[in-house]
Amino acid sequence: MEGKDQWRVLEFYSGVGGMRYSLVKAGVNAQVVEAFDINDVANDVYEHNFGHRPYQGNIQSLTAADLDRYEAQAWLLSPPCQPYTRQGLQKQSGDARAFSFLRILELIPHLSRPPILLFVENVVGFETSDTHAKMIETLKSSGFVTQEFILSPLQFGVPYSRPRYFCLAKRNPSSFWCPCFNDKLIWCPSPLFVHDGEPVTFECLRPQDNWDKLLESCVPVEHFLEFKSPAGPKTAEYGFENANIVSRECNDSSKGHDERNGFSSTGLDLYHVPLSLIERWGSAMDIVYPDSRRCCCFTKSYYRYVKGTGSLLATVQPEMKGKGFPLKEQCLRYFTPREVANFHSFPEHFVFPDHVNLKQRYALLGNSLSVAVVAPLLHYLFTEPS
Ligand code: SAH
Repeated sequence: MEGKDQWRVLEFYSGVGGMRYSLVKAGVNAQVVEAFDINDVANDVYEHNFGHRPYQGNIQSLTAADLDRYEAQAWLLSPPCQPYTRQGLQKQSGDARAFSFLRILELIPHLSRPPILLFVENVVGFETSDTHAKMIETLKSSGFVTQEFILSPLQFGVPYSRPRYFCLAKRNPSSFWCPCFNDKLIWCPSPLFVHDGEPVTFECLRPQDNWDKLLESCVPVEHFLEFKSPAGPKTAEYGFENANIVSRECNDSSKGHDERNGFSSTGLDLYHVPLSLIERWGSAMDIVYPDSRRCCCFTKSYYRYVKGTGSLLATVQPEMKGKGFPLKEQCLRYFTPREVANFHSFPEHFVFPDHVNLKQRYALLGNSLSVAVVAPLLHYLFTEPS
């Protein structure tokens, strides 16, 4: 395709549009000609931000003729990950939530205008699934070459652990900038940034073991906070700036956690971690501080469950972190949806429509992706060797 022409792109499983933000960030000359998602709240958010409402239907019911009609050269897909998560039942292709993606794959050989570029995002674990085997088989037999990656925002200077699997596929006459990585699983971002004539490193073909070093090169959590003060980190400047709240009662347990589904109360009290939760689940909580250089992956259950759903922020940074200082006195709060969006490197102008409640916001963001990771991957995918 001519360099000056605009790529026509289809965005499957569009959610709140993380793929589209990544495409924009990648600086690719592309137009999303259609997005598809079955979730009407996600579509409300997408429409609010992009001025276009995704096609609201089951992707499974699309036909080859439907897809041909868009004349798209690139497909971006982030299919449901539940069939492949470690916490789930791992039913893989036997899980009903995998069917629509399998169906899309089956259509590829029947298209009169199959895509030239394809990008798939999923959880780590997908790469060993039978759905993955099926995907690779279909892509190979349809003339695609693939390069696969497992990458985390931590490798891009963002203090956020969210390793994800990515498949990049290109079809003749399109080819990868670094063909030496064809058919390989790559664990570091350096192939994305190789310039003409530079030697490539094959270190990337092994799982990374230098995570501590990576953390050092990340900016602190503080940079991602919506509520902060320029004052020093010793006081409760990172959220509960109201001294009355901070003093003794930073965890107001009088408010039932389940009642807080929305914006009936305003301000930061919405984000307090209630005392009752700390007493019950304290040992399972992942606590980070404003000067921390890591934060755990936010899932769609953040705010509804504590264990394994994402980090909590200690707004009082103790002199000595860790076991000696009781959790109850660290004024724990949830990260706000805006802060989760910041960890996902969403642009500042991304906003939710007012009617989307707090739990829905966390759920939608938890399903989304890291623009800091996906943008360079898309840039690499859309770049042709000169
Ligand atoms: N990348 C997206 C999120 C993907 S999560 C983002 O940035 O937000 C998977 C999405 O697929 C969810 O929004 C879900 O509503 C949608 N989905 C799941 N199964 C679907 C199907 N069969 N048809 C259409 N959409 C589906």
